[in-house]
Amino acid sequence: MTVAPPTDGVLVDRYGRVARDLRVSLTDKCNLRCTYCMPAEGLPWLAGPELLDDDEIVRLIRVAVHQLGVTEVRFTGGEPLIRPGLVGIVSAVAALQPRPRISLTTNGIGLDRLAPTLRTAGLDRVNVSLDTLDAERFTRLTRRPRLADVLAGLAGAAAAGLTPVKINSVLMRGVNDDEAPALLRFALAHGYELRFIEQMPLDAQHGWDRTTMVTADEILAALRAGFDLRPDPVERGAAPAETWLVGGGPARVGVIASVTRPFCGDCDRTRLTADGQVRACLFATEESDLRGALRAGADDAELARRWRTAMWGKRAGHGIDDPTFLQPVRPMSAIGG
Ligand code: SF4
Repeated sequence: MTVAPPTDGVLVDRYGRVARDLRVSLTDKCNLRCTYCMPAEGLPWLAGPELLDDDEIVRLIRVAVHQLGVTEVRFTGGEPLIRPGLVGIVSAVAALQPRPRISLTTNGIGLDRLAPTLRTAGLDRVNVSLDTLDAERFTRLTRRPRLADVLAGLAGAAAAGLTPVKINSVLMRGVNDDEAPALLRFALAHGYELRFIEQMPLDAQHGWDRTTMVTADEILAALRAGFDLRPDPVERGAAPAETWLVGGGPARVGVIASVTRPFCGDCDRTRLTADGQVRACLFATEESDLRGALRAGADDAELARRWRTAMWGKRAGHGIDDPTFLQPVRPMSAIGG
């Protein structure tokens, strides 16, 4: 017997998981060209009319907060800092009641300049991507000589009070996997919270290879060689990162092991793409169009109903280990973290 999706209330799926954490991709464009994300020449970007405008984004977030029980909003990209209307969008979302917690995932370029304004607009905290501390290696990995800008962005975020400042690092075998201890030392010295992320099959080139992915076990072994790691007493809940206290704390380090230690059973995420599609999961191969309904005059109740229906069909997990696994057509750069 097929059970119908709920007609009111929060974003619940068939497994009883409730999505409270909304990830909003503000653009598919980026000012870096990370080798594990996109080709050097970039990608065929979404055309202007396909993109939600600032008012449409704020309206959909308002529906999510007012009608669907969303309490966390994370802005992602591509690179969200290059979205011209970012500050206005943050300010409008911060004015919503109940006020959601607002965070942003960024490559850090330009963050030193924008951090104070974003803080004033209502941004609470940031996650900054940083995979290496070596300038040459950074240029090879991102195809841009911008390490100094990222480090300035981190410092600017901390100075502006966008805390905790979290760092996301992806390690690749034979590329930067020797840097785990150095990255942790750097984070500890600056009071940043470091999380390593297992590389996921979401690259535009579809070149992901499990054998080059550095696993959580390997990362922890590398860290334990130089650091005293103890289980974190704080309840993990739906948080993607598994965390450890470093040297008895309070400093922590985390690992987001989507591939080898999936956490889908507690997932509380829902996603909105820059072109107005709902994705129930990072690895979803289906999407639900809200932009069309919105532009055709649908009211908020109708948009909420469509969103609930989209989430009701969420799969139990990403299925990466299934022989039938299909990598999503939409690349990570157009989904966001
Ligand atoms: S893979 Fe999908 S279901 Fe699993 S935690 Fe990520 S978004 Fe949630």
